Amino acid sequence: MAIIVQKFGGTSVADLDRIRAVADKVQAAVAAGDKVAVVLSAMAGVTNQLVAWVSEAGAGPDSSEYDSVVSTGEQVTTGLLACVLKSRGLKARSWLGWQLPIRTDGVHGRARITEIETGALKAGLKDGEVQIVAGFQGIAKSGRIVTLGRGGSDITAVALSAALDAARCDIYTDVDGVYTSDPRVVAKARKLDKITYEEMLEMASLGAKVLQTRSVELAMKHDVPLQVLSSFVDAPGTLVVNEEDMLEQEMVSGITYSRDEAKVTLTRVPDRPGVAAAIFGPLSDAEINVDMIVQNVSEDGKATDLTFTVAKGDLAAAIKVLENKRDELGFAHLVQDPNVVKISVIGVGMRSHAGVAQKMFQVMAEKGINIQVISTSEIKISVLVAEDYTELAVRSLHSAYNLDQE
Ligand code: ADP
Ligand code: ASP
Ligand code: MG
Repeated sequence: MAIIVQKFGGTSVADLDRIRAVADKVQAAVAAGDKVAVVLSAMAGVTNQLVAWVSEAGAGPDSSEYDSVVSTGEQVTTGLLACVLKSRGLKARSWLGWQLPIRTDGVHGRARITEIETGALKAGLKDGEVQIVAGFQGIAKSGRIVTLGRGGSDITAVALSAALDAARCDIYTDVDGVYTSDPRVVAKARKLDKITYEEMLEMASLGAKVLQTRSVELAMKHDVPLQVLSSFVDAPGTLVVNEEDMLEQEMVSGITYSRDEAKVTLTRVPDRPGVAAAIFGPLSDAEINVDMIVQNVSEDGKATDLTFTVAKGDLAAAIKVLENKRDELGFAHLVQDPNVVKISVIGVGMRSHAGVAQKMFQVMAEKGINIQVISTSEIKISVLVAEDYTELAVRSLHSAYNLDQE
């Protein structure tokens, strides 16, 4: 008998009726003979509310009290699902991260799972008891509760699947699969039957939040068979697979956008060896990730402009770091712009097809959208544009690469 892991996101456990619908899915799997471990999120909106309260109370996401507050939403949903299943005569129990425990590196607000103790879970599963695990949380060596970062229940589900050697990890959400673009923005987006781990990883990290990025990374590393499907309808979803399991490879498989970007430009930076290290070193020391970078050619050989992007939430900290180093770095002005969006075109087929980037630039030109920064990798091209153009850019590219459904 196979172990399967089913994960349900916030909208899928938004109220007691939705939790009853989740119980239906679990019950069906049990009836089919599977041993079922369930991972749940908090009810939709609850974690946002908890984050708002705790930040109003003065705790940042790197603090232990932040984690102890924002992890509570999952305690409610896991307990309620256990109640519903038991009331139907099934065996079930709920688990919090510290009870198993789910061990982590202990970094508050964005901990990484290092190990999941599965002894008790396996014993329960063997006994036919549904194991319901709170997503998004774990424990530090110090004994404090930690959380895994927003959207982290996906990580719990995949890590648990790997630890239990599950036959499948089903991620139930409010869409019936992974689409060629966010269906909330592109009405003509198409559902994909299959997508490679690699493309899914790029899509997630470039803004498609249907799966949390690190969960895809983990699934790829541990070969966890992953499926994204809807908890609202009874239909197959999207399978995340290895490249060799794809029969046909589309040139482009998806378009994403990420509004979580901010642009910083330093003007007239002295053009000499060591300057990039002097700028990006302190940012990295402050744990600020820099994403896209462009450096202009210096006209006079003396000074150049340097532009880069950081996450919106890191902008203020980045500015502070650079202002503190102003004398040492010797730039003339520091210009910031939080109103930008990163639009990306993704596809493993790009490896063997030329002209994908050119088409993107052409579409932007035709729509009068100015490209501020460009970055590419083997299977993606990203451009930074003004945030107001998000919908226009994504929809136009979706049509241009023939992704629109008929
Ligand atoms: P959950 O609460 O179940 O974890 P999320 O809100 O995290 O759900 O993820 C589901 C949402 O992801 C969808 O409602 C959809 O708007 C969004 N999304 C963004 N890009 C995509 C995509 N390419 N395919 C499917 N959904 C996407
Ligand atoms: N409840 C957490 C969040 O909203 C974790 C999750 O839903 O995946 O970020
Ligand atoms: Mg999610």
